[in-house]
Formats: sequence, C-alpha cells, structure tokens
Amino acid sequence: MSTLLEVSGVSVSFDGFKAINNLSFQIAERELRAVIGPNGAGKTTFMDIITGKTKPDEGRVIYGEKSVSLLKMSESKIAQAGVGRKFQRPTVFEDQSVFDNLMMALKKTRSPLAVLFFKPASEDNDKVAALAEQIGLSAALYRKSGELSHGQKQWLEIGMLLAQDPRLLLVDEPAAGMTPSEREHTTDILREAAKTRAVVVVEHDMEFVRRLNCKVTVLHEGSVLAEGSLDHVTKNQQVIEVYLGR
Ligand code: ADP
Repeated sequence: MSTLLEVSGVSVSFDGFKAINNLSFQIAERELRAVIGPNGAGKTTFMDIITGKTKPDEGRVIYGEKSVSLLKMSESKIAQAGVGRKFQRPTVFEDQSVFDNLMMALKKTRSPLAVLFFKPASEDNDKVAALAEQIGLSAALYRKSGELSHGQKQWLEIGMLLAQDPRLLLVDEPAAGMTPSEREHTTDILREAAKTRAVVVVEHDMEFVRRLNCKVTVLHEGSVLAEGSLDHVTKNQQVIEVYLGR
C-alpha cells in the first residue's frame, strides 16, 4: 500500500531538552498502527508535530500523494487536508443528542454557504444512522450525550471525527477509564475505521494493543526504539529494559 505520511529525521527541543530526537516514522494508507512507550517518551509531542501544533527544529513531514510538507501548514490547514485527532477527554456537546452531535460534525465538512441553505436531507440522516451503527450507538441515537457512559462518549467523539472523513486519524489513549467490554468494542471500532483510512492509536493498555492486532511502534526518549508486531517488540531486550522496566 502507498505511504500516506512520512516523518524523517525530526527533532524538537524544549529549553535545550530533546523531547523528539531524530525520529522517523511511516504509515501507509488504510494502515492501523499502535504507538506505545513509557511516560515522557515523546508520544504526545510526536502527535503534536503531525497535527502542526508543534513545529520541529529539523526534519521533514511529508503527506499524501502530492508529497506536501505539513511543516509549512497551519494546524487548521493540516486538519482540512484530512488529519483528524481525538484527544483523551471527550468533547461532545452534552446537552445535544447523539444524532445532533453527529449531524453537526457532518455539517462541519461543508462550506459556510452550504450550511446556510442546508436542510437535513434523508441522505444525511442515513449517513448519521450509519455512523451511529459503526460506533455502536444506534439504540442511543436520540439520547442526550450527557447521559452516555464515558466509553459511549468516546465512541461518539470517534463517530464525530469519522463524520469528517479524515484520511489519517490520530487517537490518544482511547481505552483510558473504560470497562473491559467497552475496550473491546473500541478496538472493533478502530479496526473497522482503519479499513477506509489510516489510524494511529497511542495507548498504554497492552491487552488493548494486542486486540488491535497491528504493527506497533515503540518510542523511547523521543526516538523509535523498536517496530513490528506486538510479540516482536515485546521480545526486544531494549524494550523489555526501558518499557517494561525489567
Ligand atoms: P509522552 O506523551 O510520551 O508522555 P511527551 O511528548 O508529553 O511524552 O513529552 C516528552 C518529553 O518532553 C517529556 O520529558 C516532557 O516533559 C517534555 N515536554 C513536552 N512538552 C513540553 C513543553 N511544552 N515544554 C517543556 N518540556 C516539554
């Protein structure tokens, strides 16, 4: 499959401390990838570089078939180019229904003029219903989002991001605070999402990563320490020493 994002030789320092150190990373179209690593490994800073929140001191970040440099683009332009990010805390509109939250996210993809003359067409209702099905919230479609469980809110937010049809979806610790069955359902949602786009999941929970059943990138001190299947990287002696602390 063709490469969607290529990060090469990227470094970032904060007050002389190298948070990201000559990091290189590639992800293909429709690939699912887990990024793991101990606290302070640079996972958040790495995601911030991809989304344009943090600009690196050196290196390249190349995206899409036209090989555009994301380093020259603002955060909002990078989002428009199809890079979506889900943060750890869900930010759904609690007093709105699941349906309204998904419909709002769908409308966000339209121009302001189109939204002005927009009436919910049956096509959009169908899209919202399909999204609700994809995230497992069909039965809760008309419930207020504030009444949902923490896990359901996370799914709703993933659905809202999917409504915008990103080509690259970055998801930060989706399993945090979830029950085991919610975690299982979340891996299903992410695996399904990665059939039509690339998905990068930053996660600590190893059982969750195992269920994702995808290539894993281990970060340590701002660089890639190991890459491969979960079984492969967890057998790596350096990974065992720095990540598992043995
Ligand atoms: P992770 O997400 O893997 O826990 P981070 O990317 O948050 O790691 O942080 C990597 C390192 O960079 C840490 O040592 C952290 O303290 C440092 N760091 C991150 N952001 C800043 C910042 N804005 N200013 C100073 N240091 C920072």
